[in-house]
Amino acid sequence: MVSRVIPVDTFDLVIFGGTGDLARRKILPGLFRRFAAGQMPEAAQVIGAARSDMDVTEYRSMIRDALKEFSDKAEQGDDVIDGFLEHIDYAQVDAQGDDGWDALREKLRDGVVRAFYFSVAPFLFGDIAERLKTRGLSDDQSRIVVEKPFGRDLETARSLNRTLATFFDEGQIYRIDHYLGKETVQNLMAVRFGNILFEPLWNSQFIDHVQITVAETVGVGGRGSYYDKSGAMRDMVQNHLMQLLCLIAMEPPARFEPDAVRDEKLKVIRALEPVAPNEVVRGQYEGAEGENYVDHAEDPRSTTESFVAMKVQVANWRWQGTPFYLRTGKKLRSRVSEIVVRFREPPHSIFGKDAGGRANELAIRLQPDEGMDLRVTIKEPGPGGMRLVDVPLDMTFAEALGPDAEEVPDAYERLIMDVIRGNQTLFMRGDEVEAAWAWTDPIIANWEEAKVRPAKYDSGTSGPEASLELLHRDGRRWRDIRT
Ligand code: NAD
Repeated sequence: MVSRVIPVDTFDLVIFGGTGDLARRKILPGLFRRFAAGQMPEAAQVIGAARSDMDVTEYRSMIRDALKEFSDKAEQGDDVIDGFLEHIDYAQVDAQGDDGWDALREKLRDGVVRAFYFSVAPFLFGDIAERLKTRGLSDDQSRIVVEKPFGRDLETARSLNRTLATFFDEGQIYRIDHYLGKETVQNLMAVRFGNILFEPLWNSQFIDHVQITVAETVGVGGRGSYYDKSGAMRDMVQNHLMQLLCLIAMEPPARFEPDAVRDEKLKVIRALEPVAPNEVVRGQYEGAEGENYVDHAEDPRSTTESFVAMKVQVANWRWQGTPFYLRTGKKLRSRVSEIVVRFREPPHSIFGKDAGGRANELAIRLQPDEGMDLRVTIKEPGPGGMRLVDVPLDMTFAEALGPDAEEVPDAYERLIMDVIRGNQTLFMRGDEVEAAWAWTDPIIANWEEAKVRPAKYDSGTSGPEASLELLHRDGRRWRDIRT
């Protein structure tokens, strides 16, 4: 496709599902942040599109409430919110019918970027894509943003890719994974590829292993019946954990450009070895009366996992012999998302084995507070000989970068602006998503065939015993889940 360059100093953004939970909690607060920072183009237009019968005044009032509840910028006052709401419009549209599409088209302007955010259940993606195209709402410069879940296995993901490809080019499709929009994830790439210090050590000769943890304290709560059809493997591992693994394991792309980065990530996924049944642990939480996982599932005998831990091997020259341990779960002790890169011990200690000091560790934290630190060994100050201690070297550099460093954009805000600018680097390509499913499908199939029941774990812990054992038998241990 030959791209016409169109200015991005304004845009029309349509949010299908504009009255839904995600729009109210994340998408609109993200845009509001942009506005509050004075960075929203004056003529930008955001149109909520949903099934509910309401007018623009009612919709704006709904969004005002949402901002007050979910945006840390709402404290800037009603005037700022009022200013933002002037950019907001509403259209009642039936994704599966005829109603509302002509009126929505009338609201769109020529000569500006049009982005359509599909914040609706996935079964509606095809219907919306078709109507956008056939009813003349989209042109070859328009973009669509697609939320997770992108399929529930390889077959459904392929079918969804095919459907979207009927109406849009791959260059117009933005499959969002908000983990990739986090400041620290991008900082990880800056640290890896912007310094000479790390890349020469970034291989199995110097890295002992990598841990990727995404731990939540919440349970499935009201989402129980949805979650029960999915489970931690589909809901978290296939997308978020896999993306983080790719960024750690990929070869340096030639340029920081969409296809250069995504080609390298794809190679990592294709290099993943199948996971042996004894190298993956499924768990399901138990709690007080009425607080068990199964109390919120449709089937009280549900065997869906709310926890997964696994040992993953990237079968290529760089990573042979360096395992990646992944774990994610609900109702765990703390809410922590982090990547830990554990380097090997120095080959020989000139200070003797009792002097102290441990292997270097690079910790990349995505939640709750984003940051990066490198644990290094230094001499403990003072007299008394050579005793070694480990200290974290803070690599967030908030102080060095000044007060603006605190004002990092939120993940949704950044990703939406990338859509407007036409930058797909931080979005998943169709073949990546399919490759990830191709790798996770056999693991899930094996659970189903072998009727593997999840190990129970108590709420508020770090998961089932078997997850600890997964590392113990390799002579390693998980870093404590702590905030
Ligand atoms: P929701 O149920 O709260 O909202 C659904 C929205 O879709 C509503 O605005 C509703 O009016 C609209 N809708 C439903 N049927 C429609 C139709 N026929 N025509 C037009 N509009 C219709 O859902 P949600 O939690 O906001 O999730 C939306 C999407 O985002 C889902 O794909 C979900 O998996 C994904 N997602 C949600 C979250 C989250 O935190 N809520 C996180 C990640 C991904």
